[in-house]
Amino acid sequence: MIKNFGNYQNYVGGEFVSEGKEKEIISPVDGSKIARVILANEDVARRAIDEANDVLYSKWLKTSLLERKALLEKLSNIVQEKSELYAQLESANTGKTIRQSTLMDIPLAIDHLRYFAHETEFKETREITHPEYPGTNGIIQYAPLGVIGAIVPWNVPIMMTIWKLAPAIVAGNTIVIKSSQFTPLTALELARDVDRAGFPHGTVNIIAGEGSTIGDIIARSPKVNAVSFTGSTSTGKKVLNAASSGIKKVTLELGGKSPNIVFDDADLETAVKGSLFGIFLNSGQLCESGSRLIVQKSIKSKFLEMMKDKISKMNPGNPMQFETDLSAITTADQLVKIREMVSQGEAEGVKVIQPLAIEGRVPSMGFYYPPTILAGIEGRQTIAMEEIFGPVVSVQEFETEEEAVSIANDTRYGLASAVWTNDNKKAMRVASRIEAGTVWVNDYHLLSAAAPRGGFKDSGVGRELGLEGILEYTQTRHIFLSNTENALKEIAYGLLLP
Ligand code: NAD
Repeated sequence: MIKNFGNYQNYVGGEFVSEGKEKEIISPVDGSKIARVILANEDVARRAIDEANDVLYSKWLKTSLLERKALLEKLSNIVQEKSELYAQLESANTGKTIRQSTLMDIPLAIDHLRYFAHETEFKETREITHPEYPGTNGIIQYAPLGVIGAIVPWNVPIMMTIWKLAPAIVAGNTIVIKSSQFTPLTALELARDVDRAGFPHGTVNIIAGEGSTIGDIIARSPKVNAVSFTGSTSTGKKVLNAASSGIKKVTLELGGKSPNIVFDDADLETAVKGSLFGIFLNSGQLCESGSRLIVQKSIKSKFLEMMKDKISKMNPGNPMQFETDLSAITTADQLVKIREMVSQGEAEGVKVIQPLAIEGRVPSMGFYYPPTILAGIEGRQTIAMEEIFGPVVSVQEFETEEEAVSIANDTRYGLASAVWTNDNKKAMRVASRIEAGTVWVNDYHLLSAAAPRGGFKDSGVGRELGLEGILEYTQTRHIFLSNTENALKEIAYGLLLP
């Protein structure tokens, strides 16, 4: 049994509020009741938006970039002190292994907060001259958009929350963050620490709530100036639709079906490990998971044997124990979806290979699915084209570089990808032709807060992280400075006036 973490409320206008429906949070690890959360009702969501709007004009627009960065730095230090609790909460709630939360998700979340507290590329203004009008100059201001509505998915809750909070705050916006109703615990813990860090009340509001009601209110509200959404492509379309009831900026970080290309000149041992890491980390519930292995025909059999051997040696168990390798599936619905998609694949003639027996080795009341390889993919079976969001990798083969690129791009998604080869020129050639926002060369999943990420095609619009990620939360204002002696003015005015 996992310990109970107590009660969590929504954080609105600097207060922890209890209106809404109570929800028991059950861990996918072993079915333990781990917390009680209040799911925000519609009034709470509207109040959060009002609070974010009020403080924007009364206080926040007058703060300096340095003040805002100092608040993020303070927040990062508080989270650091509590990193163990955050790791426990994140693993208990999502089912990801405690090893992953402790060594990856929480430290990266803290690093990323610090990145935005210290980055120096973003400047609030830049000066220009106007080539058409000698003697004049201009100031371009990068002004905040206003109130940001942020909608977060269930798979990487703390990191996704910070990826929205930190750049939005640096750029001078206020924010209402809706965490997933399934995995709200680390976001609501973060709300407590936002409060401790001393952010002016209302600048950061964090609520948990149902997507179709609370998410919809956020996307639709005329007081929300921009929406930053991360989730599935189908929900992204609904958000875009709801947001279009007004005029606002929408960034969408959506699903993927990412190609992972292995050439025969790659270091095979590393490529096998990296490919397994690419698909089975978090049991494949990562948007950028390398779910399509595209391997050169000459090494395919050997590569698959090496994969099977390594999978068979993985350690399934209780994800809350440090030595366990396999994460749980976060929700019951997701487990059903994975099972159904794999069965459908089987019916379409795909060969299902599961080298690791997990039954009896994972907690019986939890949600688990074994690492799965799908072989015998020919063409465009649904299972090879659509996101499964589970520990399932489809395998396709290629003979030429051209064919590899063509298979990689034969998808409506374009989030991430990888290329494994020892030939640097080939790596760059192929990487530059893949239609995806991220291409790893001889690696997978490594995240840098300095690098913008996002999707091509149905994987989204806009970018998160890096300078580009901050600029997404700004709008430009051009101040045109003319002095009175500007001779061209007389010419221009002369077009109208005698
Ligand atoms: P989801 O689309 O079901 O939900 C995402 C969020 O949207 C949740 O907070 C949900 O409550 C909310 N929501 C649901 N319906 C809504 C509506 N009608 N209006 C407004 N909000 C609504 O996604 P999920 O199942 O939580 O997460 C998994 C998906 O997220 C996968 O497709 C994955 O690829 C994607 N994802 C993408 C990235 C990225 O950076 N591109 C990162 C993580 C996850």
